[in-house]
Amino acid sequence: MCYNGFSSQIWSTTMKLHKSITTARIIAACEEGTFGMGNPGICIACGDDADGCEPDARNYTCESCGEAQVFGAEELLMCAS
Ligand SMILES: [Zn+2]
Repeated sequence: MCYNGFSSQIWSTTMKLHKSITTARIIAACEEGTFGMGNPGICIACGDDADGCEPDARNYTCESCGEAQVFGAEELLMCAS
């Protein structure tokens, strides 16, 4: 009912994903994290893949563009769905 004070709620509704980041891509990354060896994340600023992210990672620094916009796959899925 009232989300005042919950910054995560505001964040999830205002977050802009890079145009290359699709729901299917996020789901694939989640599956890789669940069934594979890696811990994939995606940079929402440039759309590049990142590795070594916890599923609930937020604001990790992107190795490609330097922005602190790398999010874990499961975290992205919650925002994209
Ligand atoms: Zn980036």
